[in-house]
Amino acid sequence: MARLGADFYVDLLADLEKSGQEIDFYQRSGVFLLKKDESKLEELYELALQRREESPLIGQLDVLNQASADELFPGLQGFDRLLYASGGARVDGHLLVTRLLEASQVKLVKEKVSLTPLASGYQIGEDLFDQVILATGAWLGDILELLGYEVDVRPQKGQLRDYQLSEDLASYPVVMPEGEWDLIPFAGGKLSLGATHENDMGFDLTVDETLLQQMEDAALPHYPALAGAKSSGERVGIRAYTSDFSPFFGEVPGL
Ligand SMILES: Cc1cc2nc3c(=O)[nH]c(=O)nc-3n(C[C@H](O)[C@H](O)[C@H](O)COP(=O)(O)OP(=O)(O)OC[C@H]3O[C@@H](n4cnc5c(N)ncnc54)[C@H](O)[C@@H]3O)c2cc1C
Repeated sequence: MARLGADFYVDLLADLEKSGQEIDFYQRSGVFLLKKDESKLEELYELALQRREESPLIGQLDVLNQASADELFPGLQGFDRLLYASGGARVDGHLLVTRLLEASQVKLVKEKVSLTPLASGYQIGEDLFDQVILATGAWLGDILELLGYEVDVRPQKGQLRDYQLSEDLASYPVVMPEGEWDLIPFAGGKLSLGATHENDMGFDLTVDETLLQQMEDAALPHYPALAGAKSSGERVGIRAYTSDFSPFFGEVPGL
């Protein structure tokens, strides 16, 4: 599923470009994978080589020492070796949604709604529809439980912090250490550090400085430049998760 998801971006970008849309939300700047136990890197490298047969998008693969990694991400520390895949890409999610909405040319109504099934079709507000796609993320239960369904979808709180650095990070790879947090560099010197995975906070969207600080403390040995960077804000969101953490899609039984 991850492979097909990554491959899908290639088609999506081509389609958007054809319709004259900007594709500035996506950059293939590579990825660094770090392991606490670096002896596992060879195993990971071999696995990636096998996967690349099916997923050429993975690109160039190398186990890099610190000096070579420093050429791609100056100032990164706290490891002897890491795995580099040149095909790793980063996506600015907000910009992606903006570009998709621009391209779709649909009428957008921003309003909390509920769904009423009719003998034929559905009613939302005053409007009638033959078919409805529910893409309501963690809020799927809000809609379906009212209709008598049990829904195995729960909210997971995620917090990240953005930093502003003086150098342009456009070409820097994404850094994925083992554990919760990643370092995601963007053009113009923005660097995102995140994110937390909080399973017991419901739909709470408040910023928890303690957790953000813990994440920063864990990241600092790998990227000491963070200490001198200006924090440019926090972002908090809600992901959907299920009992086995797997995503799902399909028709609602009986609807
Ligand atoms: C901090 C954080 C970091 C993340 N990092 C990554 C990452 O690095 N990579 C990655 O792939 N994913 C990441 N994710 C997950 C990613 O954001 C989600 O998987 C993605 O946004 C899900 O998209 P979606 O459209 O299914 O749901 P959502 O983006 O949750 O959208 C659902 C929408 O439905 C609306 N809605 C719900 N109920 C109603 C209603 N009754 N009426 C009207 N509107 C309604 C909601 O307001 C919301 O806008 C992260 C999430 C968080 C919170």
